[in-house]
Amino acid sequence: MFNRTQTRRVKVGNVSVGGDARVSVQTMCNLNPLAVDEIVSQICASYELGCDIYRLAVPTLEAAEAFGKIKKRSPIALVADIHFDYRLALAALENGADALRINPGNIGGEENVRKVAQAAAKRGAAIRVGVNMGSLEKDLARKYREGILSASEALCQSALSHVKILEDQGFGDIVISAKASNVADTIAVYRLLAERTDCPLHIGVTEAGTLLPGAVRSSVALGILLSEGIGNTVRVSLTDRPEREVLVGMEILRSLGMRSAGPSITSCPTCGRTKVDLFSVASAVEEELHKVYSQLVRKNGGDVAFPHVAVMGCAVNGPGEAKGADIALCGADGDFVLYVKGEAVERVSQVDAVRKVVDYVVSLQ
Ligand code: SF4
Repeated sequence: MFNRTQTRRVKVGNVSVGGDARVSVQTMCNLNPLAVDEIVSQICASYELGCDIYRLAVPTLEAAEAFGKIKKRSPIALVADIHFDYRLALAALENGADALRINPGNIGGEENVRKVAQAAAKRGAAIRVGVNMGSLEKDLARKYREGILSASEALCQSALSHVKILEDQGFGDIVISAKASNVADTIAVYRLLAERTDCPLHIGVTEAGTLLPGAVRSSVALGILLSEGIGNTVRVSLTDRPEREVLVGMEILRSLGMRSAGPSITSCPTCGRTKVDLFSVASAVEEELHKVYSQLVRKNGGDVAFPHVAVMGCAVNGPGEAKGADIALCGADGDFVLYVKGEAVERVSQVDAVRKVVDYVVSLQ
């Protein structure tokens, strides 16, 4: 396990962020803020995949009211994303926001910041100070353009100046994000923040791209930071559905040994020895296990421990992987050998293989 950088602990609803809390996973809604039913469905789907915190844009007072309806039906903590208008922040808090994402510098002066900080403190809500290269203050942006400050230094200074505005109001339940759209700057700014503040850090690469490049960029940046003990909550920002962001975020944490819940599937890339349709069987196993996991989460609550499953193409590496997995399929001559706890138990056809794995997974719960 990695040594974690020490930070203060902040509560976002029932989720602890920072201190010795586990690293949480979050995502953001991509639907019309007034589409209450669709948003609740998306939140539930994200929750069942392992999401801890869900963020919604609140661009109007009407959206703040919809936020309240969604909050009543949400199984997880909700963050209201606010820009420019402090009245929207107050309305979101009145409608149950567990946290706000704002930049204190862009909600219209000290008096408005004070009102928002007081309302957040009264309701026990946290505030995430979120800065990115597009939100830099004029002076910092100029210094960056003129080469006086690096991107990471400019972002770090911007974030800390926003934190100071809140702390000057006596408000300390602060999480910071300072996102660059490339990996090197992202790593650099969070390293600076980890040195200069004890606020918990929300880490991610902003506008990381579509699924494949976005997942790779996010994995590289978040993997490096988390392995250095930096980062308390993660968002993988993709041009894709929020559920995919959660899946990638969970997989990053799982690959670092920071989460064990949820389906964990090992599968080989196939080669000239493969005599089964491994791609479709492995995909179907993954899909079905996610469904089983979702049902278990609905029944038992989040973070259900789940068997490790291997789906291998042939007998070269299959039996070895089977020994390290709870359940394994190992391709043979057109069908599969099923292993349970490292022991071969039966031969199954390709048609039956997925159902057999699911049956054994369910029997182990
Ligand atoms: Fe090829 Fe077998 Fe290795 Fe899969 S397990 S890559 S089929 S040798």
